[in-house]
Amino acid sequence: MSEEILHIIYNFSKKYNDPINNLPLDQKNQHFSVIIKDNNVNISLTTVPDKANYSNEILKIIENFSKKIKGVLSVNTVLTSERPNKNERKNKFNINSKQIIAIASGKGGVGKSTFAVNLAGALSKIGEKVGLLDADIYGPSIPKMIGITKKPEVNENNKLIPLENYGIKCMSIGFLLNVDTPAIWRGPMVMKALENMFDGVDWGKLDFLIIDLPPGTGDVQLSLAQSAKLSGSIIVSTPQDIALIDVRKGINMFNKVNIPILGLVENMSYFVCDKCNEKHFIFSNEGAKKEAEKNQIPFLGSLPLSKDLRIKSDKGKLLCIDDPEGEMAQVYFKIAKLINKFSEN
Ligand code: ADP
Repeated sequence: MSEEILHIIYNFSKKYNDPINNLPLDQKNQHFSVIIKDNNVNISLTTVPDKANYSNEILKIIENFSKKIKGVLSVNTVLTSERPNKNERKNKFNINSKQIIAIASGKGGVGKSTFAVNLAGALSKIGEKVGLLDADIYGPSIPKMIGITKKPEVNENNKLIPLENYGIKCMSIGFLLNVDTPAIWRGPMVMKALENMFDGVDWGKLDFLIIDLPPGTGDVQLSLAQSAKLSGSIIVSTPQDIALIDVRKGINMFNKVNIPILGLVENMSYFVCDKCNEKHFIFSNEGAKKEAEKNQIPFLGSLPLSKDLRIKSDKGKLLCIDDPEGEMAQVYFKIAKLINKFSEN
């Protein structure tokens, strides 16, 4: 019922444009949100002082419309006014990279790190200067996946020198913390370690910095997203319902901090049996694709459950370097090119 009401309201509101950025007032709009709890509707619109009257008019129209929808118990509206520059992201960390892209997931174990590593591989293979930052405090696994076994050294400026493989500069929070105890790290300690990953590392000049975020949407993810001057995010999910519930939280988190979501990737979409050669949809069929459509965010592609990929990951090999002609590598190249195009715009 709530989903239906939400759909009806957004369908109506998108006919109006945001007085600040002139974009439709839809689910993607960072200044507009509709939340429904037990059929009580809360609508909020952010404006700037000189557009407040016009924003208020639009909000009233949407409010009046919403009140008439069958099943709606109450409608509450909030117009928040911000000074324009308050909306700008805090650029706490200073990295010389054209793009900084976070790879996120609502849940652990969906293949977020594997995706981050292989996307970095695809970008590197098409000639981009790539850095890969493993910020997954709960299970830093990137160095192993990219075949790095050494520990970083410190240069004369007291900065950590990233380790390199396949032309990718890599740094992991795992180098700074004991992998057996990261889960008990809390707030300031984690942030301090993450700060070291940015400002304490000699990244040099990059085209892309790919950040493997910790799974979930807690304080660490939120402050990282805000402080890291992210140009965009990619959310990885399996197609099953239980993972998709948390994807919605991820979408909300990035929307809240005004970070564009470049798209959703469906991992472990299906498995091709080598005996019958048929696709088996182990974790349900096209769940993430449908979720992307529902939230009007781009769907970037489906990646199968692949034994070959798992073996490569365990051996520190990358798809786009080791088997660039393969079907899965092609999906990664497609996404890498899309991101590249995004960075040109
Ligand atoms: P997350 O970062 O979301 O916790 P990982 O990337 O660490 O997940 O992946 C969890 C495990 O699943 C790893 O062992 C990885 O090799 C494996 N894996 C990830 N994606 C695939 C896939 N498409 N096919 C087969 N194994 C995969």
